[in-house]
Amino acid sequence: PFDVLVVGGGPAGAAAAIYAARKGIRTGVVAERFGGQVLDTMGIENFISVPHTEGPKLVAQLEQHVKDYDVDVMNVQAAVKLKPANGDGLHHIELASGASVKAKTVILSTGARWRQMGVPGEDEYRNKGVAYCPHCDGPLFKGKRTAVIGGGNSGVEAAIDLAGIVRHVTLIEFDSQLRADAVLQTKLRSLPNVTIITSAMTTQVLGDGGKVTGLVYKNRETGEEHTVELEGIFVQIGLVPNTEWLNGSIAMTNRGEIEVDAHNATSLDGVFAAGDCTTVPFKQIVIAMGEGAKASLAAFDYLIRH
Ligand code: FAD
Repeated sequence: PFDVLVVGGGPAGAAAAIYAARKGIRTGVVAERFGGQVLDTMGIENFISVPHTEGPKLVAQLEQHVKDYDVDVMNVQAAVKLKPANGDGLHHIELASGASVKAKTVILSTGARWRQMGVPGEDEYRNKGVAYCPHCDGPLFKGKRTAVIGGGNSGVEAAIDLAGIVRHVTLIEFDSQLRADAVLQTKLRSLPNVTIITSAMTTQVLGDGGKVTGLVYKNRETGEEHTVELEGIFVQIGLVPNTEWLNGSIAMTNRGEIEVDAHNATSLDGVFAAGDCTTVPFKQIVIAMGEGAKASLAAFDYLIRH
């Protein structure tokens, strides 16, 4: 069995694996797709000490750093079930292939995925104007026109954030009213360069073949279609943790985030979690890496006491 089995091969999982392996303990990584969300990212400009890099390049470096150590990487393997230890102190992770991997401690780092609009043009123009992370990509739209799709807390926060950087923000909400906290709505309405459109369903992302040029939305009351000309679209309709496979085995919030304490411990003895799949606030690469390192040190601490 492994001393530490990391489930997930994004920045949190890679950091956890390196920290564990450096303790000289038996370390494994199971990843459906090594690299995680970073593989889908173009420019990265907030990975501190690296002014600019690209997703695939950072993933290659993560992979190399993990391979420098004695880590058993099982890539293209999805975990489908966690069977908590009963008596023998070994947790079992069942894989889609039918295999089962045993470990004294487990670090869950299966990340999350942005919910998509699912409209024509969204896929084609991803990273070419269609964005999901205002902290990451906001500065790319300095002085330009953007839209934010979604009027919940994250959408309204994104619109307020972007309004300080870009020329104009159009916030588009499906419902007849915004769902964000009142204090955020008041702040948003006080900004001169924001337009709020409610009862609106985005139906299409427009582009010139290379980049976004606008979007089309339908007024849900009148059925009329309208076009907004712009350069950027931030989709803020939810970040979904990849935790469905754990159903019931561990404490989670109603949004599916694994509950962790300050030492990344979960509700299950010997099972830790890190990164975007957890309740840790703010989902970012540097944060996921720090959390992965913390989870690994906590797992090591657990091992020397058991
Ligand atoms: P992830 O990166 O999501 O990795 C999860 C890992 O778990 C993957 O290997 C996945 O295949 C695996 N996995 C999932 N389910 C299973 C399963 N059942 N069994 C086995 N493995 C599984 N952050 C920044 O700091 N700067 C940026 O510029 C930036 N830009 C971004 C741009 C885009 C388009 C996106 C989508 C995100 C961006 N982010 C950025 C956010 C950043 O990528 C995430 O916060 C970070 O990757 C989270 O790391 P993680 O390891 O927790 O999860």
